[in-house]
Amino acid sequence: MLPILSSVMVFSFFINLAMFVSPLYMLQVYDRVLSSRSEGTLIALTVIASVLLLSYGLLEMARARILVRAGILFDEKMARVTFEAVHRAILNKPDASLAQGLRDVDSLREFMTGPGLIAFCDVPWFPVFVFGSFLLHPLYGWIAIVGGLIIFGLTLTNELLTKHGLTEASIANVRAAQRANAIFRNAEVLQAMGMLDALQITWSGVHQQHLGWQANASDRASVLISATKFFRLFLQTVILGTGGYLCINNEISAGAIIAGSILIGRALQPMEMMVGNWRGFVAARVAYKRLTSLFDLAGTNASRMSLPRPAGDLKVDGIFVSSPGNQTLILHGLSFALPAGEMLCIVGPSGAGKTTLARVLVGVWPIKSGSLRLDGYDLSQWDVRDLGPHIGYLPQDVELFSGSVAQNISRFQPAESAQVIVAAKLAGCHEMIQLLQEGYNTQIGDGGQALSGGQRQRVALARALFGSPSLVVLDEPNSNLDSAGEEALIHALQELKAHGTTVVLVTHKISILATADRILVMVGGTVQTCGPRDEILGQLTTPKVVPPANQSPGNPARVTA
Ligand code: ADP
Repeated sequence: MLPILSSVMVFSFFINLAMFVSPLYMLQVYDRVLSSRSEGTLIALTVIASVLLLSYGLLEMARARILVRAGILFDEKMARVTFEAVHRAILNKPDASLAQGLRDVDSLREFMTGPGLIAFCDVPWFPVFVFGSFLLHPLYGWIAIVGGLIIFGLTLTNELLTKHGLTEASIANVRAAQRANAIFRNAEVLQAMGMLDALQITWSGVHQQHLGWQANASDRASVLISATKFFRLFLQTVILGTGGYLCINNEISAGAIIAGSILIGRALQPMEMMVGNWRGFVAARVAYKRLTSLFDLAGTNASRMSLPRPAGDLKVDGIFVSSPGNQTLILHGLSFALPAGEMLCIVGPSGAGKTTLARVLVGVWPIKSGSLRLDGYDLSQWDVRDLGPHIGYLPQDVELFSGSVAQNISRFQPAESAQVIVAAKLAGCHEMIQLLQEGYNTQIGDGGQALSGGQRQRVALARALFGSPSLVVLDEPNSNLDSAGEEALIHALQELKAHGTTVVLVTHKISILATADRILVMVGGTVQTCGPRDEILGQLTTPKVVPPANQSPGNPARVTA
């Protein structure tokens, strides 16, 4: 970026030099041509001026094109790292507004490649024009300085008066957009229960705040922008009037009146452009600040060692976990071990921390203390990109992405159709997908053909099983399944066991427990009991141990058939 910016500065130097062409031409025409009445001189001067102005035009074009390239380069460098930073930041602190980071990169790029930056590049040439004005007449020099200072003062006042309002307006705008998105995501609930009006009021409140702050800033800015316009016209009159006065007193020539007017006009032009583009500058500054805090929150993506494909041996030792950005502990010193190739079922009452444990096992939520080892390596030692293909994860709330069924199953990686079909067959959803309108090419997700809850869950199971992962973590994979789907799931679990895949499964159904090697019963964020299936099943089905209904931490889990 720096070489590009310095070449923009160099171009700006020559462009600003070319600004002297018109005033010098004026001076020569008035002072030489008119007095000598020489047509030859006029033609020669006009040809020279035209060539110089043509070069000016070409330089302007080149500068604009360099800035466009700079914009593309900036985007190439920033967009990807920002995308990854947004992802990491959201994992560290779940907050949808962090996605604003991508729009912030756009705001910065727009400012850096638009008239805003050009104005800032031209401002340093102000003293050069002032010097030229002094050469014409010292009074012109002083007019340029005082005029420049007043315009700069007006810009500064504008900044001080509108900064707070514009920042608040921008924050409220992001909040309103976020709220509207959340409302529309749940459109069906709003429709069914007539909640639209009530929720519209909550959106409208934030939207009004945005408009209020915006109006407040615009009101203040309009006074200053009008004052600047008035001052600009007034200054023009002062320059011409001063020229007339100096000419009457024979201190300057008639040509210098026009030349002075052009020169001071050029000196003040970048100042005025700065006033005009101040809002873009403020937006870029806010975007820059937000991006800095986004990158702080995201932390660095330390490059880690590439480790071999894990066999799937899990060891969890005294882990304490809270949700990201929160201090309240959900898991309290939980420990268990699962040898590679075995299947563990986690059961327990709602709120026991089963989903939290599933998230921790796949590295989505960090642990506060304790250790979680896969094949003896701490999970944090694995590079996520390396480890990802060896992990299969089916979360409770299944989200599929916009794309075809095949792309969703293959995790959007380039893959052979055969691999996709293997995963779908393993998950028992091959026939179901064949029956879709366009089979594996059916578009799902945003605007695509909708799948039923059970179908989504089965496609997501195929995604989890794609590429023969070593460790598969399934969080209530049967919550939306019919009996056929459940049978397919049990078959898939048996296949996984036959392949030697380590499986961790959160469930409430006793039918699934029959396939498990081990069962872990969780209560209140800790292990109540953990051991071989038959032993634990024996405990759970003994009437003395099975509690009647509602569970509370400290009570054993209840398993339903
Ligand atoms: P289970 O899966 O056993 O029903 P969870 O792991 O979902 O239990 O939740 C355990 C506890 O963690 C609950 O008390 C819940 O309030 C809390 N919890 C779950 N998810 C979050 C979250 N994203 N942020 C804060 N707390 C959470």
